[in-house]
Order: sequence, then structure tokens, then C-alpha cells
Amino acid sequence: LFLDRIAAVDGQVNAFLHVDAMGALAQAKASDERRAAGSPASPLDGVPVAVKDVLATEGLPTTCGSKILEGWIPPYDATVVTRLKEAGLPILGKTNMDEFAMGSSTEHSAYGPTHNPWDLDRIPGGSGGGSAAAVAAFQAPLAIGTDTGGSIRQPGAVTGTVGVKPTYGGISRYGLVAMANSLDQVGPVTRTVLDSALLHELIGGHDPRDSTSIAQPLPALVEAARTGASGDLSGVRVGVIKELGGDAESGSGWQAGVLARFQESLDLLVEAGAEVVEVSCPSFVHALAAYYLIMPSEASSNLAKFDAMRYGLRVVPDGEPSAEDVMRASRDAGFGDEVKRRIILGTYALSSGYYDAYYGQAQKVRTLISRDFEAAFEQVDVLVSPTAPTTAFKLGEKLDDPVAMYLNDLATIPANLAGVPGISLPSGLADEDDLPAGFQILAPALADDRLYRVGAALE
Ligand code: GLN
Repeated sequence: LFLDRIAAVDGQVNAFLHVDAMGALAQAKASDERRAAGSPASPLDGVPVAVKDVLATEGLPTTCGSKILEGWIPPYDATVVTRLKEAGLPILGKTNMDEFAMGSSTEHSAYGPTHNPWDLDRIPGGSGGGSAAAVAAFQAPLAIGTDTGGSIRQPGAVTGTVGVKPTYGGISRYGLVAMANSLDQVGPVTRTVLDSALLHELIGGHDPRDSTSIAQPLPALVEAARTGASGDLSGVRVGVIKELGGDAESGSGWQAGVLARFQESLDLLVEAGAEVVEVSCPSFVHALAAYYLIMPSEASSNLAKFDAMRYGLRVVPDGEPSAEDVMRASRDAGFGDEVKRRIILGTYALSSGYYDAYYGQAQKVRTLISRDFEAAFEQVDVLVSPTAPTTAFKLGEKLDDPVAMYLNDLATIPANLAGVPGISLPSGLADEDDLPAGFQILAPALADDRLYRVGAALE
């Protein structure tokens, strides 16, 4: 069914970089047999899933949306992929993304942009636009994304899907091609909050192969989603982040229709019995600046391994090139503009003489943001904001203006810097353009269950 749907619409959507029809059908058949025998491997046994092309999949191409990894077939599975397979979920294929997960529109993919199923002239968000569009276009019931600064939640918002960034360390990063190790997290992309909870429980939890993985069990996520679905939030304290669309002073970049849907969701929370108050997180206004120093710094060092010797593309210039000439030519041909921009930025920020002024300062801001969260979570159980300041913009609109592109992540980045979990769920269509807007809920580290409880109450 889903393979048919992919065949029918992916020519227009371009959500997939690689479809593994044979593999998925074989896995589905095995699942049917387990179900017929009355012994499914998990509650999601047989439910197909699409995987962002930044996670290693044994025997299936993994490009990270980059030419530099064209033709690379990993010899192993990421832990998340292993867990999906063990639980019996057929893997439909690999989804499109901004190159190395750098972007907010999926236009930085070396394999052409993904189109938003709501309006094919618009972006599906990024970097995980492929996963979100696949779910929104019914090409996959479930997908896996990664979120370094919002790449699960912002695509969720602009495609009307649900996306979760777990607590840092809550889901294994083993086999995830790292962009910024201290920020990256894998997470679910689905149509409903309960589906995300089911998928999160299945792929999450401790993994000895990831040294940053938390060595304790996940909270009861599915149970929290079921509790929330009753619609009763009495006793739950919700903080509206003043600096993120919470009041007029949060700046002019917020679309009126997005804010209107946000207000309606707040009304629903009050109706459900929650106590809604305003909370100030003054350092959040510096989150974007700090992120765009820390993330490129980590990325520039991670991407050094693509040296044309170990993986993927190798361009050999004419004459008698040295190893360095081959590296230079391969990296020049293999990386796109946005990746090069960030490598330059990161290398500069880390160079001696500038380190204290840039990277060091950014780390201090990071600490202040964590403190803002700590202070806020002494007053409230969860924090909320619109997920993204606007609905999906037109393809090409922000491509030549990196800062305008970066501004999309204003509301999602603080959670990555502090390692706290966040969910985005649809809050309705904005009046101006009838396009989906997103509602973001953030919880303290290790309290991912609160996202599901409050999120399910809003559905
Ligand atoms: N859009 C952000 C960036 O370009 C976040 C990307 C992500 O979360 N992978 O860095």
C-alpha cells in the first residue's frame, strides 16, 4: 500500500532518496507470518517506517543528502535501525534531507529539494523535510528524523505532522552520521502523538555503543500519551515563553496566523484544566547566535573525516596530484555551498586567537540558556511556544539569505543547547495561507513523558 503511494506521488514530493521495495516486502511478509502465528515482535510489528538518510543502514545507500557520500553502502546498521528491524518494522527507504542536516528547507540536498505535500511550491522544512513530507503525504505511516537545532520539529510544524526531539542521550546516536555531537538527537516523525510515543519507546533507551546514552530506562511514554488523551490536565502548570512569540516584544518575525493558532491551543490547555502562566527566559534571544557558532564548530571537525580516502567520492585532478590535491578536489566537488559555509565558520571560530571570543562565549551563553530552563521548570511542568515563526515559505525564497533561513529555528534551538526534550504537534491552519502551524511543548531533561501527556490532551 505505502509502496504504491510512494510510486504514485514521490515524483512530485521527492521525499525519498532511496526506496527499498524488495527489502520492505520481505520484512512485511515475515511480519505477516509472525502475526498469523500470534507472536508479533512488537506492537508496531509490520508497520512500515521511512528512515532519514543520515542513519547508517546495512546494505542500503546512506548519503546524508551529499554528493560526497554518493555510492557509500554502510556495512552496519545504526542502533535505531537495528531496533526497528528487531521490532518487525519494514523499512521503506531513506528520506531526503538538507546536506549533512544543515538547513531548514531541504533545499540544500544535493539530490533536489523535497516539496511540501500541502503546496508543492513550498518547502517541507528541514533538515528532515523528507521524513516529514513522507508522513504528511501518506507515503509512510511512521518515519525517523534527527534534530540538531529543530530538524524534526520545524518540518513537523510546516507539514502538519508530529515530531519529537527526545532528551539528549535518550535515543542512541550510534550509526548517526554526526553533524554536531553535543546537539544531535534521533526521534520519531508521525501523524499522532500516540504513534510518536510508541515509536519513541521502541527505539529509545540505553545503548552501550553510544557513550552519551543515558543508562536508565525511559519514562512510560505510551502510558503518558494514553493518560493525556483523556483530556484532563488538572494540576499541570504550563509556561508560555515570553521571548518566543509569547508577547508583542518577541519581535515582528511571527506570522499572525501562527500566533492565533497558538493562542487557541493555549485556550484548549486551560479548558483541559491546566494552569497557564507566562514565563521569561531572557537568554533565549541569544540561542540562535550561540548555536551558529557551536554547531559549525562541531560540524567542521566532524566533516574532516570526508577526505576522499575513506568513504565515497574521490576526485583525482590531472597530472601528478598529491594526497592533499585529491582531498581538496574531492571536498570541493563533494560538499555544497551551505556545508562549505559552515566548515569555514566553524574552523574560524575554533582557531587560536578567536576561540575564546567566539566558541568560548557561545558556550557561556549555552550555560545561561540551561539556567533559564532550570529556573523556568521550577515554576512550571512544561514550557510552550509556536514551533516555527511562520508557515511553510516558498521554495527558493530564503535560499540566498542564510540568516533568514537560520531564523526559522529561533524557537527550536534552545532545547538542543540545553539537552531538554521537545515535541511539535499541529495547531491548525493559519488564516493567511491555510497552511499548518506547529505547537511546541518542552519539558525538563528525562521528563519526556510530559510531552506526551500534554500533547495527547491537545489532539
Ligand atoms: N536548521 C538547523 C540548521 O540548519 C537545524 C538543523 C538540524 O536540526 N539538523 O542547523
